[in-house]
Order: sequence, then C-alpha cells, then structure tokens
Amino acid sequence: MELLKEYIIEKGRVIADDVLKVDSFLNHQLDIGLYQAIGQEFQQRFSQDSISKILTIEASGIGIACITAQYFGNLPVVFAKKFSAKNLNPEVYESRVFSFTKGQFYQIRVDKKYLNSRDNILIIDDFLANGNAVLGLLDIVRQAGAKISGVGIVIEKSFQDGREKILKENVRLESLARIKSLEGGKVTFMD
Ligand code: 5GP
Repeated sequence: MELLKEYIIEKGRVIADDVLKVDSFLNHQLDIGLYQAIGQEFQQRFSQDSISKILTIEASGIGIACITAQYFGNLPVVFAKKFSAKNLNPEVYESRVFSFTKGQFYQIRVDKKYLNSRDNILIIDDFLANGNAVLGLLDIVRQAGAKISGVGIVIEKSFQDGREKILKENVRLESLARIKSLEGGKVTFMD
C-alpha cells in the first residue's frame, strides 16, 4: 500500500534494528485519513469473505479495527483484554502471549459471550513481529470454535518470523506494508 509506505518513510522512526516507531500517525497520534485508507484496503482484500466480526488486541489494534469495521458495514469489533478486571465475566477464552515490546508474558482474554462457533473472524493488528499476539488471538478463535477468514496486519516486519508462523497455521495473511530491514536506521521494504 503506497500511501502507508510513504508515511513510514516520511514519519516513521527507527529506534533499534528491529523496532519502528510510528507514534505520529498510527500508534499515539492517529491520522484518520490514513486509518480510512487502511480500512478500505483491508475491505478490498477480504471482500470475498462473509466476515461476521473483527477481532483485535488492546490497545493499538482497536482504532484500526474500528475504522476498518465501518468499511465492512459496521461489523462488531471485539478486542482481547490484556488486564484482568473485577468486572470482567469469569467465563472467558484465555491465551498466554509473549510481548515483543515488553519482553514478558501476559494473558489475553475475551468474554465467551462475544465469540461463538457461527462467527467468521478477521483478525486485525498494527504490527507483526514474531507473531505471538496473532497466535494468541488465533488460539482464542479456535477455543470459540469460530472460523478464521484471515489476518490483516498494517506493518509486517518480514525479517522476523511472524509471517512463517501464521502461514504454518494455514491462515491467510495480508500485510499492507512489508519491511525487509531496519538496519542502519533505514527502512527497506520487501517490494
Ligand atoms: P508479535 O506478537 O508479532 O511479536 O508483536 C506484535 C505486537 O508487538 C504488536 O501488537 C505491536 O503492538 C508490537 N510491536 C511489535 N513490533 C513493533 C514495532 O517495531 N513497533 C511498534 N510500535 N510496535 C511493535
């Protein structure tokens, strides 16, 4: 997706050989024009499938999933919670995820009320690194007995192994920008 690649080149900041900061348009301050273009692109790529819900993970996936949902006729968006709370129904699907950014494990949870075996799910997230967040979401979808239409990622770091892990699960993966390398502070795309 050319527009997204332009944003990454102009406004992204490489802060380590494996970390890209996109706080000025995707993760902290949100550029809604770009979000809309992302939503439309996901809709076009998954337009053949009759998706019933979009599933993501808090926090940065939520905005992307919500705007994307508007291009799928206002589908419901469900997000996996990272923090337990007293008001969370104890009837939850749960999975353990290793955080790329924090370097530690955490539990993700989705209330059983919001996913079921009749659902066909599109998973959306901002970044794909080693695939742990997406694998956790796939685990939750499977626990619910739901179908998976595919996974939509805004920025894939193709030099990490998330793509391989997802494809090994026989799940369709669509990434809007694929980064080959961040070495030397420079962003190089796959294509
Ligand atoms: P994974 O689970 O695939 O290893 O990592 C994906 C998650 O880590 C994403 O949800 C994203 O929030 C975060 N993440 C991974 N790599 C980056 C990165 O280079 N920049 C930012 N801003 N977040 C990242």
